[in-house]
Amino acid sequence: MCNSSVESAKDISKSDGASQALCVCGDVADKNTECTVKCANENCPHGFLHLKCISIKRKPKPPYYCPSCRHTMWK
Ligand SMILES: [Zn+2]
Ligand SMILES: [Zn+2]
Repeated sequence: MCNSSVESAKDISKSDGASQALCVCGDVADKNTECTVKCANENCPHGFLHLKCISIKRKPKPPYYCPSCRHTMWK
């Protein structure tokens, strides 16, 4: 009779990726690695980007604006 409490305990982890900002490549850029850079625009559609995806080899000095944001700001 008291056997129905299992369902709610599963599948609650790993569900916070839905609203995560993605790099231009469509993948999540891991902010904990040295190979990513954060865009200085708070409304950036990407947030963190892989350096290789924006064609730079080393981390730029902040504030850094990704190509998408530069495009929007300077049109
Ligand atoms: Zn990327
Ligand atoms: Zn940006």
